[in-house]
Amino acid sequence: MNPNKIVIFCSPSGAGKTTITRAMMKQFPELSFSISATSREARGGEQNGVEYYFVTTDAFKKMIEEGKFVEWEEVYPGRYYGTLKSEVERIQSIGKVPIFDIDVKGAWNLKQMYGDNALMFFIKAPTEMIIARLKGRATDSPESIQVRIDRFPEEMTYESKADVVIENIDLNTAIAEAKSKLEEFLHTN
Ligand code: ADP
Ligand code: 5GP
Repeated sequence: MNPNKIVIFCSPSGAGKTTITRAMMKQFPELSFSISATSREARGGEQNGVEYYFVTTDAFKKMIEEGKFVEWEEVYPGRYYGTLKSEVERIQSIGKVPIFDIDVKGAWNLKQMYGDNALMFFIKAPTEMIIARLKGRATDSPESIQVRIDRFPEEMTYESKADVVIENIDLNTAIAEAKSKLEEFLHTN
């Protein structure tokens, strides 16, 4: 297997990229989740070093200055997220393929860095369905949901940059489509 392959999932918030990323992790043991650093607070049940490395805003800014990120974005005002060089190196050193669940801009930055070695998925769903899912997920305040909705128009423009676009209406269908594309990517040179 090409040691430099990476897999990227991006989408507007609430379209289902985390759910589909997790399903792919179960299907493909060669994948390893790239744990990002973030300055946002942990939501109920999230653990440091599992979903994210949770750091203060000051610590995050220091890490930027120290050149610790492959890419980083202020995804929402005052809330930073970034892919750590050390994380990608850790995953590649154990012979696994990093899988990223990141925002559209970070995804596109990684795609440009890795070219054909990267498979970039864009997960989409009708806006009304996404809003209902965000409300149903019950992890975000109404203000936080509105901030996410405000980003949709810009996020949608990244659909055309992705290698694979998956419409996540029925989850099992979306997972089957992602699995088939990933199988082809991971198992051919
Ligand atoms: P994202 O990572 O893109 O923000 P999530 O994977 O967290 O989105 O999904 C948002 C919410 O929608 C979650 O509560 C998830 O369980 C739910 N969800 C995801 N896909 C579907 C689907 N096809 N049908 C119904 N609910 C879904
Ligand atoms: P959440 O707060 O819902 O966990 O994530 C908010 C957004 O930030 C999501 O779109 C998520 O995929 C994205 N994100 C998570 N980690 C990173 C990262 O390392 N870099 C970038 N650019 N975005 C990230």
